[in-house]
Amino acid sequence: MKKLALHWKIIIGMVLGIIWALLSSTMGWSAFTINWIDPFGTIFINLLKLIAVPLVLFSIISGVANIGDPKSLGRMGGKTLLIYLMTTVFAIGIGLVLVNVIKPGKLIDEQSRIDNRISYEIWASEQGYEIKDGINYLQDPDFFERAQEISELTKSELKEASVSDKLETADKRKETTPLQPLIDIVPDNFFYSLSNNGLMLQIIFFAIFFGVCLLFIPSDKSKPVLSFVDGTLEVFLKMVDLVMQAAPFFVFALLAGVVSKMAGDDIGKVIEIFKGLSWYSLTVLGGLLLMIFVIYPLVLKIFVKKIPYKGFFKGMGPAQTLAFSTSSSAATLPVTMECVENNLGVDKKISSFVLPIGATVNMDGTSLYQAIAVVFLAQMHMIDLTIGQQLIVVMTATLASIGSAAVPSAGLVMLIIVLDSVGLNPAWIAIIFPVDRILDMFRTVVNVTGDATVSSIIADGEGMLNYRDVESPSETFEIKE
Ligand code: ASP
Repeated sequence: MKKLALHWKIIIGMVLGIIWALLSSTMGWSAFTINWIDPFGTIFINLLKLIAVPLVLFSIISGVANIGDPKSLGRMGGKTLLIYLMTTVFAIGIGLVLVNVIKPGKLIDEQSRIDNRISYEIWASEQGYEIKDGINYLQDPDFFERAQEISELTKSELKEASVSDKLETADKRKETTPLQPLIDIVPDNFFYSLSNNGLMLQIIFFAIFFGVCLLFIPSDKSKPVLSFVDGTLEVFLKMVDLVMQAAPFFVFALLAGVVSKMAGDDIGKVIEIFKGLSWYSLTVLGGLLLMIFVIYPLVLKIFVKKIPYKGFFKGMGPAQTLAFSTSSSAATLPVTMECVENNLGVDKKISSFVLPIGATVNMDGTSLYQAIAVVFLAQMHMIDLTIGQQLIVVMTATLASIGSAAVPSAGLVMLIIVLDSVGLNPAWIAIIFPVDRILDMFRTVVNVTGDATVSSIIADGEGMLNYRDVESPSETFEIKE
């Protein structure tokens, strides 16, 4: 019998996980699911992250040292960053077009929009912001009572714990100089960067620095170091193979836990929340699916040609399904690397350099979602963002997606900065918070697919792409002797 490809097994695990969660929600077993099944999902993410950090370190050192020539490294590095930047800005553009055409925020009933507008005016006057668009309900005696009621409500909304945590995180990021992001990339203690999962950019900096210096020392000294690095890399890749054998079961646990936490013992509540945010969710989803199924394949067709539409998805299936279930491009990175190398045929020299950087800085899905979210939130508060403000969104969403850690909900935290940049209330993330986890799953798939696309383009440009149709991509993770 033909063996089922790994990504199908993962999809089956995912579906069964969701079915289990729905069942446990209606039967009142949510506590059991969260206590006894969900921990295996956490173990799975821990295992993947455990591999991801050293993998980034060793794979970049090996990639840089194996390229051999600092000049071609510089050219490739420049090209990589430029293409990453272009795909991000393009994704934001798509997001802005969709949200301005569909106008999901205006599809909410008039009374709620007026209430929203009043709460925005209260907040803006508290912050000392000038409201320039001529609408001013606070000055209108007809709305005086309503304004007072809403003012109380706004205060209690802000107290919502999960949101205020995120606001604090973003606030910390704000108290900095303009060059702070640059300072943050250069570690003063590399072991600190290693032990704090979020400091991927510092690890990348160190690895490139180390790899380049390896090129400049005598080869009798550098050779043993490089074979140690290459050998260790093999060990980590073997770990990925082993973990992936159990992925379908882990994914079952992961999805059962995520959905159970959302639904609790009352699935009706979730459906209600989704109804209210359905147009927003559909707009984000539409943009993300467009990127996955149309834009990336089109880009590949134009620039790479060698990778067929079906072959791309067959090859990337395991990474995409894993990105969906873990909501973390960092956790997915080890698998993305194997898929891109073994199935798309990208040379290790390229993938080991381009993909770890991509997982950290290139988040097309996140930036597209941030653009839609900001304009949607403005629309539902009766605020029309000007072209100038939308350009600021392009800029800040690009930077915010670069700065987002590759972990669940990081995009939502960084959205605070984007909202802030155009004078909107950062606490509004509370509005879209309930549907964020689901959208996060889709945007992580886009983030990972975008990295794979760009690495194929770079590899092809360097003559290092050897695509051949793999019979069954599940073999990618088979344990070989
Ligand atoms: N979860 C996303 C990722 O890991 C980041 C985000 O958009 O929240 O790629």
